[in-house]
Amino acid sequence: MSQNARTEPLPPLDLTNTLMFAITLGITLTVVPWYGLTHGFTPADWVVAILFTALNGLGITAGYHRLWAHRTYEAHWTVRLFLLIFGTMALQNSAFAWCSGHRTHHLNVDDEDKDPYSARRGFWFSHIGWMLRRYPSGQEDFSNIPDLKRDPMLAFQHRHYLPLLLLANFGLPLLAGLVFHDVLGMLLLAGVARLVWSHHVTFFINSLAHMWGTRPYTEENSARDNPVLAVLTYGEGYHNFHHIFAHDYRNGVRWWQWDPTKWFIRGLSFVGLTRRLKRTPDFQIQRALLAMQFKRTQARLEAAPAIAAPRLEALRARVAHEYEGFLTAVADWAKVKEQWLAEKKRAVLEQWDHVDLQSKLRDIERGLSLQRRRLRILHAQIA
Ligand SMILES: [Zn+2]
Ligand SMILES: [Zn+2]
Repeated sequence: MSQNARTEPLPPLDLTNTLMFAITLGITLTVVPWYGLTHGFTPADWVVAILFTALNGLGITAGYHRLWAHRTYEAHWTVRLFLLIFGTMALQNSAFAWCSGHRTHHLNVDDEDKDPYSARRGFWFSHIGWMLRRYPSGQEDFSNIPDLKRDPMLAFQHRHYLPLLLLANFGLPLLAGLVFHDVLGMLLLAGVARLVWSHHVTFFINSLAHMWGTRPYTEENSARDNPVLAVLTYGEGYHNFHHIFAHDYRNGVRWWQWDPTKWFIRGLSFVGLTRRLKRTPDFQIQRALLAMQFKRTQARLEAAPAIAAPRLEALRARVAHEYEGFLTAVADWAKVKEQWLAEKKRAVLEQWDHVDLQSKLRDIERGLSLQRRRLRILHAQIA
């Protein structure tokens, strides 16, 4: 049932949120351009505004999202403090509230009653509407963040959220304004306009990244991979990958995919400031990609009446043969992996065995890679 078709009365407005979003947007659309035209912004205003935008982005993606909500890596306290300061500045509620809501989103993704920002309820609702009213689906329940509640830094932020957000949002731009001798310009550009931009690009992950893009890994939920959104959101646009492998510190998993959050986390691991970075085994990623490819090719075969019967039969047989090979590879991989783990556990693994089993696993992975290429060609032939 879409939001429009819902018959129950709308819940009461959340006045604080509504006013905050409306006033900051109003100033950004009127006062900021007026000031720019009449007084002009200095290069320092722009540089600081862009820097704060990027740092707010990292605070949310590397901090709130990948560190705390999903625990995809561990970080030194200095990194955690840095991410928490700029996460607070992004003004998206305390880490407790954000991470709890986000864990609920993953657990109940697309459920109209349980997902706090279900994309099934439309663009407006998933983008910002869910924060403007006190919807039952958005009720705070911190029972899913027992690990975070034990973190004194996060507990402090939650307890003193109001003064901290004011300090970050007014204090830091004010400080920059005093340093660069343009207090008003800095407050408008690096304060208000920066906040509005940072808000809406992050909100695109809940709205657009569940509507616009491709689904190469799974069709089980509405999450999409979208390179345009990845550029705007420091790598979070690979949302289809993220929803199936949420414990991976990477969202853009291919080397050519734009994921500065991943580079930030990995970069810090070289100097010991982050550790235990979680990665999905390559085989699992390949398996998900191939499973989706088979699904699509199968669907295309079924909807291809324009192909002559003998040719269609031949194509069908080839796809079936490839599928057989895929199932065998999956079974083989599981067997070798099990053997490797068992021997590792018993600590009887000789160096030679170790290399042998590893290379067997790699061979199977390479096989899947080749199979993906063959299937792509087959898929193109069924037009
Ligand atoms: Zn999502
Ligand atoms: Zn997530």
